[in-house]
Amino acid sequence: MSPALINTCYIIASILFVIGIKMLSSAQTARRGNMLSSVGMLLAIVVTLLYNGLDYKWIVVGLVVGAVIGALAANLVKMTSMPEMVALFNGFGGLASLLVGWAEYEKIRAEGFHEYFLANAAPPVFTTTVIALAVLIGGVTFTGSVQAWGKLSGKLGSKAVIIPAQRLVNGAVLLGIVVLSLLYIFAFQLEIPAGTELWIFLALVGLSLVLGVLGVLPIGGGDMPVVISLLNSFSGLAACAAGFVILNNVLIVAGCLVGCSGLILTIIMCKAMNRSLTNVLFSGFGSTTQTAGAEVEGEMKPASIEDAYYVLEAASSVVIIPGYGMAVAQAQHVVKELGELLENNGCDVKYAIHPVAGRMPGHMNVLLAEADVPYEQLVEMDNINPLMPTVDVAIVIGANDVVNPAAAQDESSPIYGMPIINAHLAKTVYALKRGQGAGFSGLINQLYFLEKTRMLYGDAKATVSALVSQFKEQ
Ligand code: NDP
Repeated sequence: MSPALINTCYIIASILFVIGIKMLSSAQTARRGNMLSSVGMLLAIVVTLLYNGLDYKWIVVGLVVGAVIGALAANLVKMTSMPEMVALFNGFGGLASLLVGWAEYEKIRAEGFHEYFLANAAPPVFTTTVIALAVLIGGVTFTGSVQAWGKLSGKLGSKAVIIPAQRLVNGAVLLGIVVLSLLYIFAFQLEIPAGTELWIFLALVGLSLVLGVLGVLPIGGGDMPVVISLLNSFSGLAACAAGFVILNNVLIVAGCLVGCSGLILTIIMCKAMNRSLTNVLFSGFGSTTQTAGAEVEGEMKPASIEDAYYVLEAASSVVIIPGYGMAVAQAQHVVKELGELLENNGCDVKYAIHPVAGRMPGHMNVLLAEADVPYEQLVEMDNINPLMPTVDVAIVIGANDVVNPAAAQDESSPIYGMPIINAHLAKTVYALKRGQGAGFSGLINQLYFLEKTRMLYGDAKATVSALVSQFKEQ
């Protein structure tokens, strides 16, 4: 295939990516957008495989191993484990870029570091810079993502960890990386003896992996969504650098798209928490040393399904506020059924969506769309909050941090300033959870102790199913 034809196909693939991403911004078009981007990716892969001089043996091995792992993951990984799965994907993207950079360096080393640049007339600074970037960003993304996976899956504990002299250690590692990168990039001009640049390179790989660990260590609790989208952005930038290493245009474009969209999502997440990115990355939110906020007084008052049924039956407006617990219970289908029964009873039903409810961006939208809840009934936080004082009943289903009034009222609370859905302003609140467990941030929720709040204890799916049965029986 001629280079011109290959690049034309790459441009078509890139356009399909951009249109596909644009279509992801609405639930109605998201599936088609996903499909369009997949077609673009297929085109890019097929065209790349038509390059001359490829050794198909290893490509087939890679395809088979990747396809088997992908198929198993798609079938075995539960919806609730998707966030940690995304973290792992980001990590493997970073590792792949690191290996591409390393492989290119090995190619150069095989010819002799100095001899290669003398013989090939390749601009040495460009080549070594993109290799250093692919290895550096890829390495940080890999270990940072593996740690994020460990924290989100509970295998490493979800809290932020502050080590002594954290900033000093991070600063030293960062300085080491800058010095090593410069030495590696200018090794040809500095006439560093052949073989020495290998040790510089290996030290750079090692410090990049260490920086990934150190970077994610002080992040935990409610800040994890920001880290995941930031690492997603890094994995894109690493792929972009790898694209420059092997001079593949579609990899450069796709990497840029992932890098930019991840960064935009990171900024949206920070805004949703009312925090700056530096505060998220360095404040140690959720560590054992932070304040726990003001003491909460009063008690949680349990209610029976029958009581809740009578209040709901008389309500003319209900707002359902889903959170992570709805995902754990996989209650979205029965929640939709309850919503329909309430509507048939003449009640106005809306679903309030907080941008960081659940464990990944758009988590609640995905679950409710899966249950075919009409998209018009999903109302974003900023639009539902002005209506909350007029709402008869707020049903909080496995949501905790995103409805914690301390975020609006208690200046000593670590989540003070994070925007919340104002469930506490509704006339009556029913909160569905299994017990007295805290939310992801580990804080006690004042909402559950209010006079107007009643607790419906138990698994959310069982509780909502019981309410549905009550409606059907009457
Ligand atoms: P939370 O984690 O704050 O609270 C979830 C609640 O659900 C808990 O109080 C728990 O209480 C309850 N629960 C768990 N399982 C069940 C079940 N089977 N049935 C009923 N209730 C259940 O969730 P929110 O959605 O309110 O807030 C999300 C938090 O996660 C925020 O802090 C956010 O910043 C963070 N986060 C968000 C990400 C994102 O991208 N969206 C990613 C990572 C973190 P109990 O144990 O008593 O049942």
